[in-house]
Amino acid sequence: MDRIYLDHNATTPVDPEVVQAMLPHLAEGFGNASSAHSFGREAKVALENAREQIAAFIGCEPSEFYFTSGGTESDNMAVQGVARNLSSRKNHLIIGATEHHAVLEPAEYLANRGGFQLDVLPVDSDGFASPERLASLITDKTALISVMHGNNETGTIQDIAALTHAVREKGVLFHTDAVQSVGKVKVNVKDLGVDLLSLTAHKIYGPKGIGGLFIRQGVKLAPVFYGGSHEKKRRPGTENVAGAVALAKTLEIAGRRLEPDTKMLRELSDYFIDKVTTLIPDVALNGPRDRRVPQTVNLSFSGIEGESILLSLDMEGIACSSGSACTSGTTEPSHVLVAMNKPKVEAQGAIRFSLGRSTTKEQLDYVLEKLPPVVERLRAMSPVYQKAKS
Ligand SMILES: *Cc1c(COP(=O)(O)O)cnc(C)c1O
Repeated sequence: MDRIYLDHNATTPVDPEVVQAMLPHLAEGFGNASSAHSFGREAKVALENAREQIAAFIGCEPSEFYFTSGGTESDNMAVQGVARNLSSRKNHLIIGATEHHAVLEPAEYLANRGGFQLDVLPVDSDGFASPERLASLITDKTALISVMHGNNETGTIQDIAALTHAVREKGVLFHTDAVQSVGKVKVNVKDLGVDLLSLTAHKIYGPKGIGGLFIRQGVKLAPVFYGGSHEKKRRPGTENVAGAVALAKTLEIAGRRLEPDTKMLRELSDYFIDKVTTLIPDVALNGPRDRRVPQTVNLSFSGIEGESILLSLDMEGIACSSGSACTSGTTEPSHVLVAMNKPKVEAQGAIRFSLGRSTTKEQLDYVLEKLPPVVERLRAMSPVYQKAKS
């Protein structure tokens, strides 16, 4: 059997149709979109067409969408950009407890070095935050709230509309990291009621290094970079035209495939969860069964290290993840699972299988054949597990 890739939340292969759409803009259409001659004008047309398509996909005006290098940059641009807007006297930030590091770390930086106050919005055992709790954290100094839409580790889909609704009257900006939800569930900035929204191409079968930030008309935001007038001075740097075209194509395909892909991924992930939990004792699903990005299956095998399972499965040609890729290599349990109040023995034994368009039932059956003996072997060597069982 070929290697099996079950790490689609880390990144995905680029769809061949996206590659085809990009190629002309790397070759003959190589012009700099800021140049005044015909090469530049042609590139500019391609860039603005892409912007229009993307804006239509997420329900905003083209003038409200800014290209960036991806999710990390968009998150930084939102959090730091709002915070650096010096005309504001507000200095209080609220972020969700299960945010990606690309939101968490700039917010912590602002709190540690920038004189900001930071509050963390707690979540329940499935990763959901309470609108009432959010409203209660707001003060007259609150400048920004950032709560992610689809969680990269557990797949929990936060009810962003309920959260924005609860704070609508307070005049606080609301950012959501929608990197794991755009193209996988319906995302419309008006329905969500957000002021800022981050997305990236490479989690949805587009290339790495291209993404964007929706900034609602009227939102004040200082740039993080300086050095040019591109993207209305909010994000200077020569435009990545081929990337922009790729992002637009990526979303077009995702829109077309949304229903069949969702159905297939839900069936496969339900099958996988049911099988694993019957074949192996002491396994827990992290995150909700239903309100989940359907491709994400995060399971805790108590008493053993997720990292050890990952390495053993890798030797069988199966690629998955323990916690989020950005922090793997450390044995600290994931901050997402800790925030969900998972006991340490469970949090440390967490493995994320993230399915994708190429995933088949045969592949999952192969994993179901290899996984139980791996878990059994590791548990036999685990004093923690043996002690809990005796
Ligand atoms: C992958 C990811 C990011 C980072 O996006 P990049 O394009 O890789 O920089 C941010 N947030 C979430 C939720 C992610 O899954």
